[in-house]
Amino acid sequence: MNVMARKVEAPKAPEKFFIGGEWVQPISNKMLEVVSPVTEEVVLSYPEASQADMDRAIAAARQAFDNGPWPRMSPAERAGYLRKVAELLAERLDDIANAWTLQVGAPIMLTKKLVGQNPTLFNYYADLAESYPFVDERKRDDGGKVKVVKEPVGVCAAITPWNAPLVLLSYKVAAGLAAGCTIVAKPSPETPLEAYMLAECIEKAGLPKGVFNLVPAGRESGDYLVRHPEIDKVAFTGSTAAGKHIAAVCAERLARVSLELGGKSAAILLDDADFSKALPSLMIYSMPITGQVCFSLTRILVPEARKQEFVDMFVGAVSHIKVGDPFDPETHMGPLTMARQLSRVQGYIEAGRGEGAKIACGGGRPAGFDKGYFIEPTVFTDVEPDMKIAQEEIFGPVVSVITYKDEEDAIRKANNSTYGLSGAVFTSNPERGYEIARRMRTGSVTVNGMIVDPKHPFGGFKQSGMGREGGPEGLDNYVETKTIHFA
Ligand code: NAD
Repeated sequence: MNVMARKVEAPKAPEKFFIGGEWVQPISNKMLEVVSPVTEEVVLSYPEASQADMDRAIAAARQAFDNGPWPRMSPAERAGYLRKVAELLAERLDDIANAWTLQVGAPIMLTKKLVGQNPTLFNYYADLAESYPFVDERKRDDGGKVKVVKEPVGVCAAITPWNAPLVLLSYKVAAGLAAGCTIVAKPSPETPLEAYMLAECIEKAGLPKGVFNLVPAGRESGDYLVRHPEIDKVAFTGSTAAGKHIAAVCAERLARVSLELGGKSAAILLDDADFSKALPSLMIYSMPITGQVCFSLTRILVPEARKQEFVDMFVGAVSHIKVGDPFDPETHMGPLTMARQLSRVQGYIEAGRGEGAKIACGGGRPAGFDKGYFIEPTVFTDVEPDMKIAQEEIFGPVVSVITYKDEEDAIRKANNSTYGLSGAVFTSNPERGYEIARRMRTGSVTVNGMIVDPKHPFGGFKQSGMGREGGPEGLDNYVETKTIHFA
């Protein structure tokens, strides 16, 4: 293993799985690899969970749910454990940031800023567990007593993608554990390191055996996990294609499912907007982590009359983005995460050219990089709303500038998408911004900026998902409502 070479504290036992409170030898003899997107070298080989390993993890989680103390503890007791996990995660923030940068190529200046969200999520759900209405006493019309109780949904599979490996897992694990569920976590095969770190923190915090289980694997074992009759709920973040498949599989036995999927989010710059005030948010959020973030503002809608003003300013700024080694604290943009991401993004750039859109900047590989999955930040102009690059999620640093005639046209174009995850409106009049935000068919919108706050709900309309993560709504995902009448 070559993890140490890039400043990452190696997990204690990456050759094992965390099942039933112990680090166990895999039954499987299949191996997975983590590849550095900068050097293209393998930095970690580790085992892939087989179906037999999944069976063990599911059985441990089932036992912990059916017979263990966790679901029956008071919410305050569970909160105590979650706060301990938060404390231990907070001690490892540098490791977590380094692991993110190593595996994904996300710039260290960003990962260091964002890793604090993980302990925040565990502390937030600990606090929420103590105030959440798990038991609500009501009265019937005949005067009789009713208790409406929220019970944990059961054994949950948490399946996460590679772009933001820990935070997307923390959303699920913190909320699920706060509700009293037990978890089988299957992180993305390309980015397992932080999940190992979380498992170590959970072990050290002393959570009862089997409450959290870690079985890294690819699609095939993931599919087995989703189909398993002992899994009560699947919490999935990933592509819309996989999400549709998982929803269909869950539908067969009506297993509970929540889905956080792809996006093609629009930023509307209204005619009264000060573009220079919008620029900092657009620079960060139109292509964060080399554009590999679900809520990226990849379609920028500008008034026809002010197109050139915007393009000059935006392209001027994008051309100065510093692309390079993500461990360099000056780097704004690292490489794409995988070879397949690079060919996917290059394919979309070609498609954009072929459809007649104009490249205002970027479009190729940056000079001076012989190795690594680097690509230039790319801005397309003259984009028609129905072009492939304006409709499909590219998941790379490729932004489309689209013009509109008037407010109605802007709203129509923003909503012309099968996705509906995020969005932004820039205006000098926040009330007008609010009215436009209400008409955007999307799960979250920021007026004059871009905010994703784990203490508030996040998720998608349309093909961007089902259910919400974050905020109290994130805990609602992990409970069933039971009504107990007193006759
Ligand atoms: P992916 O769908 O290929 O894989 C995501 C996870 O699901 C991985 O762990 C993978 O192994 C697993 N998986 C894939 N097919 C499966 C199946 N049939 N059964 C069970 N598990 C399966 O997505 P990806 O390439 O890892 O991630 C990129 C996608 O994730 C993008 O579309 C992005 O928009 C989306 N995403 C969404 C959010 C959000 O909050 N809405 C956040 C981050 C990423």
